[in-house]
Amino acid sequence: MKSTMQESPLLISRILQSGTLLHADQEVVTWTADGPRRTSYAEVGTQSAQFAHALRGLGVDGDQRVATFMWNNAEHLVAYLAVPSMGAVLQALNIRLFPEQIIYVTNHAGGRVIVLDNSLAAPFSKLLPHLLTLRHVIVNGPIPDEVRAALEAAPQIEGVHDWDTLLAAQPTTFDWPVLDENDASSMCYTSGTTGNPKGVVYSHRSNYLHTMQVSMSLGFNQGDRLLAVVPMFHANAWGLPYAALMVGASLIMPDRFLQAEPLAKMIEAEKVTGGGAVPTIWTDLLRYLDEHPTDTSTLRTVIVGGSACPPSLMKAYDERHNIEVLHAWGMTEMSPLGSVAVAPAGTTGDEHWRYRQTQGRIASTLEARLVGPDGAEVPWDGESVGELEVRGPWITGSYYDNGTNSEAERADAAAKFDDGWLRTGDVGSLTPDGFLQLTDRAKDVIKSGGEWISSVDLENALMGHPDVLEASVVGVPDEKWGERPLATVVRAADSTIDAAGLKEYLGSKVAGWQVPERWAFIDEVPKTSVGKFDKKVLRKRYAEGDLNVETPA
Ligand code: ADP
Repeated sequence: MKSTMQESPLLISRILQSGTLLHADQEVVTWTADGPRRTSYAEVGTQSAQFAHALRGLGVDGDQRVATFMWNNAEHLVAYLAVPSMGAVLQALNIRLFPEQIIYVTNHAGGRVIVLDNSLAAPFSKLLPHLLTLRHVIVNGPIPDEVRAALEAAPQIEGVHDWDTLLAAQPTTFDWPVLDENDASSMCYTSGTTGNPKGVVYSHRSNYLHTMQVSMSLGFNQGDRLLAVVPMFHANAWGLPYAALMVGASLIMPDRFLQAEPLAKMIEAEKVTGGGAVPTIWTDLLRYLDEHPTDTSTLRTVIVGGSACPPSLMKAYDERHNIEVLHAWGMTEMSPLGSVAVAPAGTTGDEHWRYRQTQGRIASTLEARLVGPDGAEVPWDGESVGELEVRGPWITGSYYDNGTNSEAERADAAAKFDDGWLRTGDVGSLTPDGFLQLTDRAKDVIKSGGEWISSVDLENALMGHPDVLEASVVGVPDEKWGERPLATVVRAADSTIDAAGLKEYLGSKVAGWQVPERWAFIDEVPKTSVGKFDKKVLRKRYAEGDLNVETPA
């Protein structure tokens, strides 16, 4: 029997149209050197129409790629909405990638137009001659004449345009096309740890369903004021932009002001109620809030993800600032939301905290399974460990290949899938009620003798020590055991704790055989382009003898 339901495609243009109509008076606030700049969702709707007309004028009449090289701000939101809604494909470039990687991902996606923030224009102008498929550059904000001249000098470029001038000349409504919901809406590249970054292409349908899950799982509503610290070029800012439009939450966009002090000012001045960022951002902010009285009374919940949240960070926010830190897990390949750690109803005390510290309960629309080292599924018993595999409507089923991918890249990409499931590369356990506890990334697990040591467990234990600001643990070669942990530690200001003291402390927290022999104090843990601990760099520094390694008795 067929249903009697209408078939209407799930499109980004619906999010755009309903968001800007039903929540017309909600706002997007962009932080600037001179304080906040405000735009209502009604204006975002008008600008989206104008931007779409402008792009048509620049030759975007099909599924051409439109790239962005931008911070989180109102104009980036307009691009997020307008580009997919008109049938083109948005590629938000990670401005922090190495130049060679930016060149690779832009050429691989094949963008025709790029939108650029003026604050990034000067460094970008050096890359532009290498971005071979681009024809037009749209600059958001004023730039000096010499930077404009440098952009115009790129031989393939037909025009450099000013955002305001370009949009002002356009009609204020657009007839958004009815697209196939399975058409591409946007794309993101993973930061390649080996070889070139891999492209993931999202559809209107995947984005739409993901947005509904994000809104539901994170409990967003009209009246919320969400501080989107997680960049729009990192895994779609975890879905916050579309979710905000869908539910009518206002967005507070930090632009390039990502340090703790301006973030604290935004929270106070803009009465922020929630937000999302990687642990390192919340760690910096905590230090600032502890020292500088700030009114954070409106801030109820902050979402942390991207890497494991140290339990000590969660507790500190809870106890000292009455702010709930909500732990979530996901990946670029998963749009990105996979799980959120809302403790089961009725749990209290230690049990409540145990759930909160997991990566969370798998989102209801997704399927998950754990695969052990022998390739067999392991049970959801909260103990058995395996690699997590997932599938569902917003999980990628392959990587984008424009025909130039090498045989090796194809083989590498194919190895990420297992009979229709995405191999996440994350290792952990699942409880019978679907709470995921990650112990490590497969490539970061330390294989000591026949046993596995979780680098994350050691880091969390170390970061629970009051004298430790940050700690990162990596596996290093060891003659006897194959691999052993090396602990790299950033001391808190004024602390004089030594390796012997930390070794003793760690011995009281984890099994004795897991305690590292090798210790190094460093000024800062190196971070990746999206602010995660960069263990590749630490392993390399160790291999090259760049670390001052101690082996206390
Ligand atoms: P990148 O590969 O550049 O880090 P992603 O943001 O897509 O880009 O990374 C996804 C990975 O980040 C996951 O596979 C997982 O290893 C890690 N991750 C994300 N959220 C968490 C979390 N809450 N706890 C532990 N690891 C996490």
